[in-house]
Formats: sequence, C-alpha cells, structure tokens
Amino acid sequence: MTREFPMPSDQTFYGSDFEALQGVDPDVAEVLLTELDRIRGGLQLIASENISSPAVLTALGSTLSNKYAEGYPGRRYYGGCSEVDKVETLAIERAKDLFGAEHANVQPHSGASANQAVYGAFLKPGDTFLAMSLPMGGHLTHGSKVSFSGKWFNAIGYGVDKQTEDIDYDQVAELAREHRPKLICAGGSAIPRLIDFEFFRNLADEVGAIFWVDAAHFIGLVAGKAIPSPVPHADVVTFTTHKVLRGPRSGALVCTAEHAAALDKAVFPMMQGGPQMHTIAAKAVNFKEAATAEFARYAADVIANSKQLAASLLELGVRPTTGGTDTHLSLLDLQGIGVTGRDAEARADAAGIVLNKNAIPFDPQKPNVASGIRVGTPSVTTQGMGVEQMRQIAALIARAVTEGDADPDHPVSKEVRAQVTDLVTRFPAYPRG
Ligand SMILES: *Cc1c(COP(=O)(O)O)cnc(C)c1O
Repeated sequence: MTREFPMPSDQTFYGSDFEALQGVDPDVAEVLLTELDRIRGGLQLIASENISSPAVLTALGSTLSNKYAEGYPGRRYYGGCSEVDKVETLAIERAKDLFGAEHANVQPHSGASANQAVYGAFLKPGDTFLAMSLPMGGHLTHGSKVSFSGKWFNAIGYGVDKQTEDIDYDQVAELAREHRPKLICAGGSAIPRLIDFEFFRNLADEVGAIFWVDAAHFIGLVAGKAIPSPVPHADVVTFTTHKVLRGPRSGALVCTAEHAAALDKAVFPMMQGGPQMHTIAAKAVNFKEAATAEFARYAADVIANSKQLAASLLELGVRPTTGGTDTHLSLLDLQGIGVTGRDAEARADAAGIVLNKNAIPFDPQKPNVASGIRVGTPSVTTQGMGVEQMRQIAALIARAVTEGDADPDHPVSKEVRAQVTDLVTRFPAYPRG
C-alpha cells in the first residue's frame, strides 16, 4: 500500500524527520501512519492513555537519546554531559515546583520502575508491606504473585468495602495493626474515588511505616489542582507521566528531603542503568505544560466529563461501581445487563470505541473475562470534547455493549461506528493544521 506523505503539520507526530525514516524503513514508517489513523479514527477511552503534545513528541524524537549520563546532574560517570545536565535540572526543578515537593527524581523509565525504587529504598527481601490488591483495584507492582513485588516481599493486600465499593479503611487499619508493615501504599489502577491521604498518614505513623502514594493514574489531576495532593502527606509519591499528566511514556517520583538520598540510590544504580535523556527532556516539557492555567482547565474538564459519562451510563442501566466517580475514570459493572467485560470490550472495539475489560471488586469472573469495563476521559478531553459529547458517548457505549457484536460488519457496529466517526471528525486528535 502506498501512502501520501502526511500534511506538513503532521510531521511532528512522527518525530523529527519523517521523510528520512520513510527512506530508510518504509515498513516502520507505515506503522507510524496507520497508528496515527487508528488514534484519529476511534474514541480513545482507555483511562491510562492520553494524547501528548507535538512539543513532547519532538523532545522524545531527539538526539538526546544518544547520550549516556549515568549518575545525576553534576555527578556523572561519563563526559560530555554539560547539555543533558541542563535538561535534567530543568525537569527536576519543574517537578518540585509543580508538586510543591522537597525532592524529585525524574529518571525512572516507567511507573513500574519508580515503584521498584521504592521497594529498593525501604525494604529487604521478605519484608512486609501493605497495598491494595490487584483484583480490588491495585496494580501488579503492589504485590501481585506474578510481579517481583509479590515474589520477593511479603505483600498484604487490602480491598474495598462490599457496600460502598470504596477503599475499606477499617480493613486497612486492622491489617496494618496486625502485620506491622514497613511500607504502606495508597493508590491503584481502578480507583474512581478520592483517597483519604490523611488517614493513611496517621496510620503509617501509628505503626511506624513509610507512607507511599502510587499516583500513577491521578497525578495529572493533582498537577492541574483539580483534586487534593498526596505530596504534603506522603514520604514518597511515584507516578507515570503519560496518563492524565499527558507527557511522554515514563515515570518519576517526588519525596521528602529525608528520603532523597535513599531513593536516588535505589533508582540508580540499584534498579536502572543510564537515564533516557530524550525522555527526561520530554518530561521537562510536560511539567512546564502542566503548570499552565490551560492545563488546570483541562484537568477540571477531565473530571467534569468523567462525572457526566458515569451519570449518563447509569441512566442507561450501566452501573458505575461506587455509584459514580470523583476522578478521570469509572469502573462499570456489567452484571446487570448480562454482558461480560471481554464481550463488551470486543463489541465496543468493533464500533470504534477503545476501552478495556476490567475486574470489578468481588468479581465472580476470571480476570481475562471480567464483569466490568473501565473508561476514562483524558484523551477525549484533550480532543476538546465536553459534557454534551459525554452524553452522546455514553449512549454509544451502551448501544454497542448491549446490542452490538464483535463483528465489525454487524449493523449495530456499523451504525455506532458512523456516529463515532462523526464525533472524532468534529473533535480530532492531532488536528491537521
Ligand atoms: C500504570 C500504573 C503503573 C505502571 O506504570 P508503567 O509505566 O506501565 O510501568 C504503576 N502503578 C499504577 C497504580 C498504575 O496505574
């Protein structure tokens, strides 16, 4: 298949010099094109994804990728670090300002790498920690048996209350008093409600534990001052930069001055080798973007959209767990409409709606089937959609999931997909200049 060279304004979305790539490797160049078509052609409702800016993508696709810079600014193990030192210092200072933190480490390659550093800094193999269990909304790196965190440490998992479906704070306190963990974690991947950081801080103090917040999902809402910050309460806050925050695919952490040296040593040399200086440059750009009034408006809109989407789905018989959401995501229980998460994901996909199946608390189904789906509003909000479009999206999801089919040629798939196309044409991702 031959393709036209993209419009000039598209070039940034493929990196610095798309024509050069096409010449060297047309196969990979083609994937860059078709992936952009895919992003533009559907409704992106994966709660952990977003649409980063051309400025972020340009920094990522830069010659800073070439530089070895093991160590930290001013204390490197390689020569020639004068320029990358500037960019890492910018990223560190901007992260500290953005989150009001005493210390920042911008080198973690991802959210999981930042979390590894927390274990490396505070635990020895066999030590006990307390975190939300994966099936209740936690993350693999919070003690799942298939993760290093569950294999090498004694992970105690807490869950949610059966009635409220929100964090079971009584259980958290009981488990902490019983097991005396060295480390207590708040945060997860499928928590639609705000977390009571003060509760966790007091509990950690009571049992003598480090208090760690894994803010991978919601840190962008904190940056935009749309929800309360964990930073004043926690010893360390890890996060990803590519979810609501809308930066490059990467991670970072902020912490108190007290723990700075231990965490820096845990990131490098304990867990990682050379930092990715191109990604650190992109994180610096992202932190600057996230400090603007425009970003704060976006963060507020992400939540307003999320609340509307959940409310409209509830009206259509698709029940959000906890009854709604305070954040960018909701978890939808499909048991009432008799559809599995796996079928819902496939039906939505056939209709041009990209979302993921997700276990709901106390899910009777296996994880690869699941009784729920998770939807988030970061991407559609970045595209400029508002509450009116959320009502429409709720109707499209409900139609595709309840009456649709995994076959893209099914009449319902086609009908919904046509409406999706209309919507994303009016609110495009990476609009052509
Ligand atoms: C996404 C996520 C991570 C992992 O981030 P990666 O960049 O995929 O490694 C860690 N913790 C939580 C709570 C997450 O949601």
